[in-house]
Amino acid sequence: MHTLPTLSYAYEALEPHIDGLTMHVHHDKHHQAYLDKFNAALSNYPELAKLSAEDLLWHFEDQVKTSAPDDIQAALKNHGGGFEHHSLFWDIMSPNGPREAVGELAAAISSKFGSFADFRTQFIDIAMKQFGSGWAWLVLDENKKLALYSLPNQDSPLLSKHYPIMGVDVWEHAYYLKYQNRRPEYLEAIWNVLDWQKIEERYQLGLKKS
Ligand code: MN
Repeated sequence: MHTLPTLSYAYEALEPHIDGLTMHVHHDKHHQAYLDKFNAALSNYPELAKLSAEDLLWHFEDQVKTSAPDDIQAALKNHGGGFEHHSLFWDIMSPNGPREAVGELAAAISSKFGSFADFRTQFIDIAMKQFGSGWAWLVLDENKKLALYSLPNQDSPLLSKHYPIMGVDVWEHAYYLKYQNRRPEYLEAIWNVLDWQKIEERYQLGLKKS
């Protein structure tokens, strides 16, 4: 059974940028619901339940598609994705991390996008253009190169063996209580709480992932 990760900071710690009520509902209700449905889908598949959510999605083609029917595959993709993505999201935010890329990732971002500011502009643009629910992602692609795109719903970059370095949830439940329909304001505010030390650590993990 997978379990809900606890936050490493208080629900209110990201205020005023992300409010405490949104964090409570998002973590305690939405993330919990993905977890419950993920575990339910795994209940008759003990071999799949042994995998981390990350590895289950990474190995979806060779492990899940060969051992589970279509309805279970869909549940694992949607709820496994939702579970994994929210765990990642809590982990790459903090009240006091560096607010721009550091280390080797800083150099990789400058090389790929021109500068951190240019990357930020492109990221916001992609997140704005995601129609409806989804996530904007910075990933390491199959050649271990940075790539930036959005995906709908809880479709995971991991399904394509792309390692998610950093992602921003653009489902309305991520911002509606504070920002209502103003997705641009949320996408400006989020940069005040992203922890680029944590994102650098994911970059290093992604370089090693195989
Ligand atoms: Mn969410």
